Amino acid sequence: ESLIHLEGVTKVFLTDEVETHALSGIHMDIVKGEYVSIAGPSGCGKSTLLSILGLLDSPTEGSYILNGRPVQGLSLPERARIRNREIGFIFQSFNLIGDLTVYENVELPLTYRGMPAAERKTAAMEALEKVGMGHRAKHLPSQLSGGQQQRVAVARALAGKPAVLLADEPTGNLDSKNGDSVMQLLAELHKAGATIVMVTHDVRFARHADRTVHIFDGRVVQEQMESDPTRA
Ligand code: ADP
Ligand code: ADP
Repeated sequence: ESLIHLEGVTKVFLTDEVETHALSGIHMDIVKGEYVSIAGPSGCGKSTLLSILGLLDSPTEGSYILNGRPVQGLSLPERARIRNREIGFIFQSFNLIGDLTVYENVELPLTYRGMPAAERKTAAMEALEKVGMGHRAKHLPSQLSGGQQQRVAVARALAGKPAVLLADEPTGNLDSKNGDSVMQLLAELHKAGATIVMVTHDVRFARHADRTVHIFDGRVVQEQMESDPTRA
């Protein structure tokens, strides 16, 4: 069964009486443990798609079933609760809170979730160890390189053991060495069982994914299996 099932998902933005069809009739199935990369030129609808997958936005038409549950028509608090439990976000700009330590940044979403302090500590430290940042727990984000900050952001996304990791241009603010290292980390997490959906317009990184979905003008124009696992 699909972890993510989209059927006929369309998103129309209305600005000054001008309609923008950001997405037009998207069908998509992603199973548990898959690593899917979403590629396409700027403005083709990638961010809109990721926002819908992450319950940050809703389709104008079509249906979305996440982990067996139809998500349309849910109240905002219900959507927020599901988002907090099922989705881990990784952004281009890391989005760490500057006056919280690395540890506190990773712990924060667990606090929102109502997890008891002792459990939070174990989960946050485990996630930091997993991304190789356990030794930086007491640092502030500004004391870390961009690549290290993104590793911390990955730990924050992982700590709550979400059903899926959504990554939006995770290497967009990194030089190629740090970018490669973050992509390597995502590939390792995938090997360990994580389900990942990643938006990128850098085709170099598609080789880590099981499959690349190419989008153009809000439509899926091509699906490509990344068939040779030795290239990862
Ligand atoms: P990508 O992530 O591939 O660059 P986006 O999903 O950001 O593409 O945008 C797809 C289209 O929808 C673009 O034409 C963009 O201008 C438009 N769009 C995105 N968000 C909004 C919004 N909030 N209001 C109006 N138009 C939007
Ligand atoms: P949007 O989705 O809002 O259209 P994009 O994610 O396409 O924005 O790009 C935002 C900015 O980040 C652009 O200036 C783009 O050139 C830059 N950028 C995005 N991804 C990368 C990347 N992998 N490497 C370098 N620059 C990138």
